[in-house]
Amino acid sequence: MSESDDEDEGAEFEVSEEAHTICHLCGGAGFIANPVQAVIGDVPRTIDNGRPCPACDQDGFLVGLVPPV
Ligand SMILES: [Zn+2]
Repeated sequence: MSESDDEDEGAEFEVSEEAHTICHLCGGAGFIANPVQAVIGDVPRTIDNGRPCPACDQDGFLVGLVPPV
C-alpha cells in the first residue's frame, strides 16, 4: 500500500525586471474615460472615446515605484 500526496502548487508568477507602477490614473489602460454628451441622428447620447492618459502618456504604467497620490 502506498499513498502519494501529490500537491501540485503551480506557483508561477511573472516578475518584471524593471520596477514600474501601474498608472493610478488610468489603471494601466493608457486612456482615461472622457464621456461627452453628443447628439447623433437626433438621439442624445453619451460617447466615451476616452483620451490619452496625461499621467503615463498612454504607457499604462509609470517608471519606478510611484506611490498613489
Ligand atoms: Zn495612465
